[in-house]
Amino acid sequence: MATRYAGVSASILDAVGDTPLLEIEGVYAKLEFLNPSGSIKARIAKYMIERAEQEGLLKPGDTIVEATSGNTGNALSMVAAVKGYRMLVVMPEGLSSERVAISRAFGAEVLFCGNFHVNEALKRARELGQQPGYFAPAQFESEWNVEENRVVLGPEILAQLPAGRLPDALVLGVGTGGTLIGVGQAFRAVNPDVRLFAMEPSESCTILCGEIATHTIEGISDGFVPGIFQRHASLVNEVLSVSSTDAVAEMKRLARTHGLFCGPSSGAHLLAAKRIRQNFPELRTVVTAFCDEGEKYLHEYFMQPAMAEVDATHFR
Ligand code: PMP
Repeated sequence: MATRYAGVSASILDAVGDTPLLEIEGVYAKLEFLNPSGSIKARIAKYMIERAEQEGLLKPGDTIVEATSGNTGNALSMVAAVKGYRMLVVMPEGLSSERVAISRAFGAEVLFCGNFHVNEALKRARELGQQPGYFAPAQFESEWNVEENRVVLGPEILAQLPAGRLPDALVLGVGTGGTLIGVGQAFRAVNPDVRLFAMEPSESCTILCGEIATHTIEGISDGFVPGIFQRHASLVNEVLSVSSTDAVAEMKRLARTHGLFCGPSSGAHLLAAKRIRQNFPELRTVVTAFCDEGEKYLHEYFMQPAMAEVDATHFR
């Protein structure tokens, strides 16, 4: 029987990447929630840590410290567990409790700083990262983040698209901006006309209007425009917005109608991708990603029957 993995794997890190590309409702979605630790962030966590080891910036006995809205914290905690580093996750309060618990399950220490947005945590992680024995991957700034997406994730998607198809558009929310910019660079190299769309929550219009407010599309729009996005903003064609309510409703619909149990950003990405297909019929091949698993939001949306809002008409 054919298998994705030839031979014996050395660790769980061998299972990072190589995810399916799904054609869904007229667009293409890379199923990144299937990565170990439950999100797309397993890719940059593995990549940034291995690059730091190669460059001699990270040595046995060191502590990795990172500010995160959660998924990168979970992913780095997994990588740190495999490789034997100490891990300090610095994150705001008010995000899904599962994200905190998952980092702890991987043996990390979690330090709370600020509320909902990542600004305060970022400051603290930056200070700690300068101490001897600490290494801060600095995902919001790091070109290694962009590099992984350009040299690994982008080419994976290009190889999976049907023969003869090039991407016409890419749409993604901006956490660090690493996925949009790095995958965008890989797509531009094969189709200079590919259109890059950044997506942000309509309640917190940060890129377009400089506004910072709470929203429920966790993992994107963390309260500032990250360095990566600022440096590469000229690559982006357009910014569009999706409301938190619509994102969560679409997340629930994805699970019920397609068996895809993902987080709110995946719902928002699918809505944005379908809107692009509708508004720009000439953009035939629209690509996005489903970035994290729904299990990370069980307490927020699914632990009481009423929360699941099962619509009886669905079963008729
Ligand atoms: N969706 C989710 C659920 C995320 O956790 C993230 C990253 N924090 C993103 C989307 C956006 O990815 P990026 O950091 O590459 O912009």
